[in-house]
Amino acid sequence: MNALSWDDRVHNYFQKNRVLVTGGAGFLGSHLCERLLERGSVVICLDNFFTGSRTNVAHLMQNPDFEVIRHDVVDPIRLEVDQIYNLACPASPVHYQHDPIKTLQTSVWGGLNMLELALQNGARILQASTSEVYGDPSVHPQPESYWGHVNPIGLRSCYDEGKRCAETLFFDYHRRKGADIRIVRIFNTYGPRMHPNDGRVVSNFIVQALRGQDLTVFGDGTQTRSFCYVDDLISAMVAVMNHEHQGEPEPFNIGNPEEHTMLDLAEMVIRLTNSSSRISFLPLPSDDPRQRRPDISAVGTKVGWKPVVDVESGLRRSIEYFRTIV
Ligand code: NAD
Ligand code: UDP
Repeated sequence: MNALSWDDRVHNYFQKNRVLVTGGAGFLGSHLCERLLERGSVVICLDNFFTGSRTNVAHLMQNPDFEVIRHDVVDPIRLEVDQIYNLACPASPVHYQHDPIKTLQTSVWGGLNMLELALQNGARILQASTSEVYGDPSVHPQPESYWGHVNPIGLRSCYDEGKRCAETLFFDYHRRKGADIRIVRIFNTYGPRMHPNDGRVVSNFIVQALRGQDLTVFGDGTQTRSFCYVDDLISAMVAVMNHEHQGEPEPFNIGNPEEHTMLDLAEMVIRLTNSSSRISFLPLPSDDPRQRRPDISAVGTKVGWKPVVDVESGLRRSIEYFRTIV
C-alpha cells in the first residue's frame, strides 16, 4: 500500500533518484527493479507484458517507491525521471521472431521515444544492447571495437539489426542533441525468473532435465556461448549507468567469459539435477552463431566490474528456482 505521509511523498519526489525501467516486468528488468529499490531509488516499471509478467514483480508491489505502468514503448510517453534503463524488447529468439516487425519497432521506435523522454528530462539513459550486434563473429573473443558479422535479411535480423540501429540512434542523439547515454552489450544471461517456456537454452535444459525429458541440443552441440549469472549482470548495468566516463561514451560488453559448448552445458545440467534425461539432437536454427565469448577488459579497467558467479554455482541457484515452478 502507498501509506506514505505527504511529507514523505514530497521528499521521495524531489530527493530520491527516480528511475524508469522499460521492460521492467521481464526476466532482467524485474531483477533490476529489485536492485534499484534496494539502492533507495523510486522505480517506475514500464512494460507491455508481451514476455514479462506481473508475477515477476509481485513481491515489489507493496513497496511505496515502486509502481508499474502498462505501456508500449513504441508509443511516446511523458514521465518525470532522472535515469532510464531501456530494456523493453523480447530477448528469446522464439519470442522476437514471433512478430519480427514489432520487434524492430520496439528497438527502433522504442529507442527513439525513450531518447526523447531522456532529453525532455535531462535524464541519463542506458540501452540494453546485445552480443547479437556481433552476429556470427569472425573475431574471438569479441571486443567492443569489432563491428560484427550480421546477416541483415535473416530470421534473427529483426533483433540483431534492431539493436544495432538502436545503438546508432543513441550515438547520434548524443552527438547531435547531447543525450547522456550509456550502452551495455549483454551476453547470454540466465537465472531465476526466466520463463520456463522462454525457449532459451539454459531454461530449456533445466526444465527438460527436471521433467525427465530429453535435452534438445540444436545442431551437433559444438557451438559455444558464455553464460553470465543474473546478479552479476545487474551489478554491471548499475555500475555502467553510474560510471562517469572520461571523454566520449562507449559501449561496454557485459558477460562472463567462461565459454561452454551446448553439449557441455547439457551434460552439466543433467549432472547438477541428478536427472535420468538423455540428449537428443534437433536441427540448428538458421544464422545460429558458432561461438560467443565477451572480451570484458574494457568494463573491468574503466568501470571496475567483473563477474563473480561461476557457471556451476549459477546453474545450481537457477535449478533451485526452477524446482519450485515446474
Ligand atoms: P524478457 O523477454 O524477459 O524481457 C523483456 C521485457 O520487455 C518483457 O517484460 C516484455 O514484456 C517487455 N517488452 C517487450 N516489448 C515491449 C514493448 N514494445 N513495450 C514495452 N515493453 C516491452 O527478456 P530479458 O532477458 O529480460 O531481456 C531484457 C533486455 O536485455 C532486452 O532488451 C534484451 O534484448 C536484452 N538482452 C538480454 C539478454 C539475456 O541473455 N537475457 C542478452 C542480451 C540482451
Ligand atoms: N539451443 C539448444 N537447445 C535449445 C535451445 C537453444 O541447443 O533447446 C542452442 C541454440 O541453438 C544456440 C544456443 O543454444 O546455439 C543458445 O541459444 P539461446 O536461444 O539461449 O541464445 P542465443 O542463440 O540468442 O545466444
